[in-house]
Amino acid sequence: MSLLSGKKGLILGVANDHSIAWGIANAASNAGAQLAFTYQSESFEKRVKPLAKAAGSQIVLPCDVTDDNSIGAVFSALEEEWGRLDFVVHSVAYSNKNELNGGYTETTRENFLRTLDISCFSFTALAKRSAPLMAKGGSLITLTYSGAERVMPNYNVMGVAKAALEASVKYLAADLGPRAIRVNAISAGPMRTLAGSAIGGAREVYNWNKEFSPLRRNTVLDDVGGAGLYLLSDLAAGVSGEVMHVDSGFNVVGVPDLLRYRDD
Ligand code: NAD
Repeated sequence: MSLLSGKKGLILGVANDHSIAWGIANAASNAGAQLAFTYQSESFEKRVKPLAKAAGSQIVLPCDVTDDNSIGAVFSALEEEWGRLDFVVHSVAYSNKNELNGGYTETTRENFLRTLDISCFSFTALAKRSAPLMAKGGSLITLTYSGAERVMPNYNVMGVAKAALEASVKYLAADLGPRAIRVNAISAGPMRTLAGSAIGGAREVYNWNKEFSPLRRNTVLDDVGGAGLYLLSDLAAGVSGEVMHVDSGFNVVGVPDLLRYRDD
């Protein structure tokens, strides 16, 4: 399969081999893409470098998305190494763990701003930097969760950040569409990752999704990998501004079929 052969892509958000970014990177690499990776800080470097190597990547750079200079350095390096870019995967989010538990009302101003900066604004900052390198068009994807659309326990300020992120996808799609740059989001079902496990009650939400999603199973890395591959490839040439659910169909369920647990 060579859906992405000849394409060059930047992957942000690999922390380890459970990361959603890694699932998409793996699928992209298997489909022939050349990849560059970033890691948040030194503590992630030792985990990201071997994965990047496994994906045949020569470019592995630090990037803290709260720092414009750090983002700038990544794009300067890509311009020098590649001179162009075909796609970006933004799989980055953060909120203080203490506020991913309990009520949304308790959100502090400081954590609200930090959460929105890292989990939402950073995608817009990346889009702005990417566009000049995408003279022949491109594809930008980000990761969201249905806690943007409906209330999920303990998701709190992250739900607000994801709602803003999903709105950003639409505005960016409108801004960049005339330059043939497509902007989409994947709304993944709950997965056992570093970020996922920071949310209070993650295990219960995970089990609930498994029990009541139409496919009766949880989302796995290959699911998001395949969806990412589609959105990054020319198969999705006509798709932009979309939030695509990859959640075993859970988002379509209103009231779960609790009757199947009744004996009478
Ligand atoms: P993960 O912990 O593997 O990835 C989160 C990444 O964000 C990490 O690589 C971390 O280094 C990075 N990050 C955080 N702050 C950063 C900063 N300041 N600068 C640069 N990078 C920073 O967890 P994941 O579940 O793979 O999360 C990836 C994306 O998927 C997130 O946007 C998350 O909200 C989203 N998502 C996750 C789930 C889930 O259940 N795990 C479901 C839907 C959406």
